[in-house]
This record gives sequence, C-alpha cells and structure tokens, in this order.
Amino acid sequence: MSQRPGHHFLQIPGPSPVPERVIQAMARQVIDHRGPEFRSLGLSVLEGCRAIFKTSGPVVIYPSSGTGAWEAAIVNTLSPGDKVLMAETGHFATLWRQMAGRWGLEVDFMPGDWRHGVDPAAIEARLVEDRARAIKAVMVVHNETSTGVTSRIGEIRKAMDRAAHPALLLVDTISSLGSADYRHDEWGVDVTVSCSQKGLMLPPGLGFIAISDKALAASKTNKMPRSYWDWSEMLKPNAEGFFPYTPATTLLYGLQEALTMLLEEGLDQVFARHQRLGAATRAAVRAWGLEVLCLEPAEYSPVLTAVLMPPGHDADHFRKIVLDSFNMSLGTGLAKLAGKVFRIGHLGECNDLVLMAALTGVEMGLAAAGVPHRAGGVAAAMRELEARDTTNSPSLRIAAG
Ligand code: PLP
Repeated sequence: MSQRPGHHFLQIPGPSPVPERVIQAMARQVIDHRGPEFRSLGLSVLEGCRAIFKTSGPVVIYPSSGTGAWEAAIVNTLSPGDKVLMAETGHFATLWRQMAGRWGLEVDFMPGDWRHGVDPAAIEARLVEDRARAIKAVMVVHNETSTGVTSRIGEIRKAMDRAAHPALLLVDTISSLGSADYRHDEWGVDVTVSCSQKGLMLPPGLGFIAISDKALAASKTNKMPRSYWDWSEMLKPNAEGFFPYTPATTLLYGLQEALTMLLEEGLDQVFARHQRLGAATRAAVRAWGLEVLCLEPAEYSPVLTAVLMPPGHDADHFRKIVLDSFNMSLGTGLAKLAGKVFRIGHLGECNDLVLMAALTGVEMGLAAAGVPHRAGGVAAAMRELEARDTTNSPSLRIAAG
C-alpha cells in the first residue's frame, strides 16, 4: 500500500485517470457475450467509435494494448518484403519500425531529431522519387508520446496526394484519439490504430483499428499470416454486435460510458479544452525558464508537454522527489531522452484545476529538487487559462488576479 496520503495525481501521458462515471459503468456483472443484451452493447460501442474516429467505415475493437493494434494494422494490409516509409519522430515510432522489421517489411526510416513531427515535404519527396511505386504504406505516429510532438496528418495526406502515390496511410493515434483533433475519413487515412487508456479515459486493455475501403481491399489479397488479428474473422460477427472470441465485456461497458461523455461534451469542445491546457502548461514551462522539447509551434501536443531539464540535473531524480513529496506521477523520459526530460500529461478528463494542481506540484518539486528555475510558472499558467477562457468564469478571473 502507498505510504503517501491523499489523492494521487496521475499526470503521465497515459494511462490517464479513469472518470468516476466510467468506473461506475464497469462495476457490473459480466453477461452472456452471445446473448441479446450483449448484442445491443456491441452495436452501440462499435457505432460510437465511428463518431470518435470520424469515419463511416468499420472500427475493430481488440482485447489488447495499443501494441496489438499496431500488429493488426501490419498483418492485415502488408506482405513480407513490402517496402514501407516511416519517420523517426521518437521512441514509439522507433518501436513500430522495429515491429515492421520483425514482420519482414523493408523499412525506409526517415531520421528525425525527436523535437519535430513528420515533415510532409520529406514524405512527398520520397514518394515522388519512388517511380516504381515500391512503397506500399506510409506509417506515422500522430501524437509522439515520448516527445509531445503532434504530426500534421492532414498535411501528410495532401503531400501523398500531390505525389499521386498509391501507398496506404497507416496512423498511430494511440495517445491522441479523444484528446486531439483527428479525422480518419476526411484525412484519407487507411488504417488508424488506437487504444483505450489515453484520450478514451479507460483502463488499458482495448486496442482499436479504423479501416478504409482501400485497406479492407488490401486485406483480401495481402500475404501476411494471421489468425487472432484477422479483420475478416472480426467483421463478420461485428455486423451483429458480436465478437469471434470472448470480448472484454467489462471494458466495453466502460467504453460505452466514455463515448457518451465525449459526445455529450462535444468533440470540438474536448479538443479546445486540451489545446487550452497545453497552452497553459507551456506558459508555465517558459515562465520557469525551462524549455519545451517540441520546437515547432504548429506541432505542440494538446495531450502532453515534454520539458527539458537544465544540463546536470536528472529528470528522474526530480520525478522521484515530486512523487515522494506530493504524490504525483510525471512521465519519465524514454530511450535516449531518459533522465533528460519529464512529461506532463494533460489528456483525458483533465480540467483547469487538475492541471493547476499538477503545475503547482512541478513548481514545488523544482524548488525541492534544487533545479534552477524562476518562480511564477503557476501564475503564468493561470493567466493563460484566463486569456483563453471560453466560459468567462468569474472564479478564473479572481484566481488569475
Ligand atoms: N504508440 C504510442 C504513440 C504510445 O504512446 C504507446 C504507449 O504509450 C504505444 C504506441 C504502445 O501502446 P501500448 O503500451 O498500449 O501497447
């Protein structure tokens, strides 16, 4: 049991805290997954997911983590030896690349500095060069959770169209879906991969895939072996709300509630809320005199902010002090960013006061850990929230002084 009293602030970039409404919705007995009650649950969540992905096509739900959905995207659309184009945006893009290699794909991995998103012009140039049309898919991460950089998927689609290249577009929205604007159909994405424990505010355990007609056609002729992940096995029973194997019923109850919450608030409002929380976080970081890892303002993540530590100061030592002193978990630096950055999650159910508490914990932690910084980040974040206040709340004006 934790030694630390009081509320635990889980400010990592996923899993995000599960809302009370979702917890309550999951506190239920399981049911017959081949019976009529399940049928209506299945149909309702499969339909609700379409709204969140912004697609009229099928969405598949696996009992898996996001990594499983990554694998499903590969094995259902590609064949061993296929060439794919990927971009090194950070740790997660690197892991997906590694998986693609293990499945026998030939990966052209465009190098990156982990501080920028995917460059649409570079994608266009590579596709134009590919006169033989050997590249079968462009595979990119929308929100790179290791860096807090959000790539511009709509721009990447336009770049592919300018190159008039027939490659499929496969996108990882594992940490963005439900927190950052995303449009599967409008952006012409062929496969969108996601999971439950980030913007969808659920516990870990569900993987999602949205599928275009073109991706579905590819799945009928591609040569990769598969069984558990096979879309055709899944889509047949899904048409009636059922699954080919025992589904994660309890998580589906939670999903139904989470989808209701997102649609009640309105997706535009959800996205605006996260943009505003991200802006307030960056205002705090700058006021502290620290550096946001993301270098491109058009790619600032509304999901999380990665903060660079001053040289000579270890981010994990700072995170330990914050956990021990204030009962708050911040995200660790991953792979080559270990010890160099900490990450503040502001995804999912996060609101003004939760963010302000988190930023207060960071500011107190910086002082406690002896990290050189200026005071006043919390006040700067409050001013940013007030400046972007959409509700014109009097309490916010008072708080900001
Ligand atoms: N892709 C991104 C962008 C992620 O953030 C993560 C996990 O944080 C993954 C993939 C892997 O997902 P999972 O840990 O659910 O398998």
